[in-house]
Amino acid sequence: MNPDHPPVPAWLSGRPLVGGLVVPWITPKLPDGRYVFGSIDQTYAEHALVHRLCGVCGHRLAPHPVVLLLRASDLPRQCTSEPGLHPQCSAYTAVACPMVNGTLATYRTTPVPGVPVTASSSSRRGARAERWFSVWLNDYHVVVDHGHLAASYRGEQPLRIRPITRPPR
Ligand SMILES: [Zn+2]
Repeated sequence: MNPDHPPVPAWLSGRPLVGGLVVPWITPKLPDGRYVFGSIDQTYAEHALVHRLCGVCGHRLAPHPVVLLLRASDLPRQCTSEPGLHPQCSAYTAVACPMVNGTLATYRTTPVPGVPVTASSSSRRGARAERWFSVWLNDYHVVVDHGHLAASYRGEQPLRIRPITRPPR
């Protein structure tokens, strides 16, 4: 086991693993079976948003709290195209995901064949990875942002907003 990877929590043991990391439910899968970490499958993401499913485990969210993970640049708009998460799934992601926890210095620089490029992914390509924040909410509502469905908390008072810190090595 890679010592940099956290143990897989029991509630995520049914998810596929790549290199010891849980593959989130919304991660795109290529026809050859490979997963594209750091991207989202727009169809799965929008299904999760509308049906209130967790973006990591794919199971229904509890009524509250719900956690959204937002990049610093998304905070002013108070919305994200990534679905809400269970608190325990967001905690795993904050430790395990190299994009979210800042151990991956830059975003993927080349498009992945077979994966539709969204406006936000193309503008981020090659950019330095941003700081992420966990936003704890009683609930989110679904809005359209940049032509895609997004989870928004505009008009709602978040329970708390916390910066996600790099895990100790
Ligand atoms: Zn979950």
